[in-house]
Amino acid sequence: MKKIRVGFGYDVHQLQAGYDFWLGGIKLAYEKGAVGHSDADVLIHVICDALLGAANMRDIGYHFSDKDPKYKGIDSKILLRDVMKLIREKGYEVGNIDSTICLQIPKVNPHIPEMKKCLAEVMEIDEEDISIKATTTEQLGFVGREEGVSAYCAVLIEKA
Ligand SMILES: [Zn+2]
Repeated sequence: MKKIRVGFGYDVHQLQAGYDFWLGGIKLAYEKGAVGHSDADVLIHVICDALLGAANMRDIGYHFSDKDPKYKGIDSKILLRDVMKLIREKGYEVGNIDSTICLQIPKVNPHIPEMKKCLAEVMEIDEEDISIKATTTEQLGFVGREEGVSAYCAVLIEKA
C-alpha cells in the first residue's frame, strides 16, 4: 500500500536595511533584506521544515545548525537540495507543496513564476507540484509594519 504523509513548516525572518533579500531562491530588489545565519530565505526554510516534518526527520536547525560557521551566509538552495536527498534516502518522493509568503512590501506575485521554476529545478520535481501564494497582513503586526517576513508551507510526500 502506498504510504502518504503530510508535513508543515513555519518560519520568520527580520527585515533590515543592508541585507540581500533572498526569497524562493531568487534575489528581490528591495531596500531591506532578510536577516539570518544563512541567506535567510524564509520560503526555502519552510519547505525544508515541512519536508523534514513529513518524513519525521526533525527540523532544519537540527540538520544545519545556526551555530555552525559552515552554514554562515549559505545559499538555502544547497540546504533544500540536501533535504531532498535526506527524504529520498528514506524512500519518499514529493507529492505536492503548498506555501504562503506573508510580506507587506515589495509585491511577491510578479516573482512567483521565477521562484517556482527555480525551486522545481533544485528539488527535481515538476513546477506543477509547487504552489506559492502571497499575502500581506493588511498593515497588521510585524509583517504589516515591514519589520519581517514569514511563511507557511504544507507538503505531501509519498512512498510506493
Ligand atoms: Zn529561516
